[in-house]
Amino acid sequence: MAHPMAKDAYSRTVGDGHSIGGTDDVPGGRRNTDSLPRDRAWRPRAGMTKAERDREQNRAAGGVTKRVVHSDGDDRAIATIVLTPRRRSGRVMASLQWTDAGQRHRRPLGEVTHPTRQANLRAAWSLAAETGLLVGDQEVAGSWASSPGTRASMLSNRGRDTKPELRLRSELHRAGLRYTVSARPVPSLRRTADVVFTKYKVAVFVDGCYWHGCPTHGLTPTQNRDFWVSKIEGNVKRDADTNLRLVDHGWFVVRVWEHTPTTDAVTLVRLGLAESKDGRAARVIRADVR
Ligand SMILES: [Zn+2]
Repeated sequence: MAHPMAKDAYSRTVGDGHSIGGTDDVPGGRRNTDSLPRDRAWRPRAGMTKAERDREQNRAAGGVTKRVVHSDGDDRAIATIVLTPRRRSGRVMASLQWTDAGQRHRRPLGEVTHPTRQANLRAAWSLAAETGLLVGDQEVAGSWASSPGTRASMLSNRGRDTKPELRLRSELHRAGLRYTVSARPVPSLRRTADVVFTKYKVAVFVDGCYWHGCPTHGLTPTQNRDFWVSKIEGNVKRDADTNLRLVDHGWFVVRVWEHTPTTDAVTLVRLGLAESKDGRAARVIRADVR
């Protein structure tokens, strides 16, 4: 069968991964539904948004940085686990899928046998880690640099995300929370937070993906690499130093990325406020370790 992905040896496709179909159907015959794996073992919850699907994968993988694959050339891509029911065997097959330069790649990982989709996703990510396709944390951390042009075009493709801090502020305001914008949490400290809750000592930073070294949106090495690496590394060091100093002064620091969904960012801010009201010890609360 001619298939657009046929040139990739790993891309033998088994349907779109979210619907039943393909080679296991018996043409014109009766389906052996008795041996179908249960929906909850593989089927995504109906109506999940792209952001929700991403969070589900991140949770199962142990963080978005665990999802980065080596792809063609020096490019990196974020992979996803696809669970596919096998009608005849009643089993769930897991594949690792990613898109690179418009081309979809799929690498079968094997069978997963847990009763829930969550457990199967986790098991599949463990299988994926054994393939050698995943980049691994250290390399991701060292590969923030890219051209600002690449970064800008990548981020502008996300359209509605142009003003993440404005959206966060308006959501917080709608929730009845009152804050100061773009202020120094500690006046003697020359560090400015995007949103500051003075009474509860919660400082919120909405970090730009490029300049603050977001592991998701900083993966393509390019020209002037060293210059941008040192610039971004400087920012990241300064961010870490800011966190330390503010926590030292008894402040909760909430760090979210510009790519963090607003609802998640609001949840983290509320968490900081709640912990502060509870009299808990100040700490850093990050978007990517939920
Ligand atoms: Zn990002």
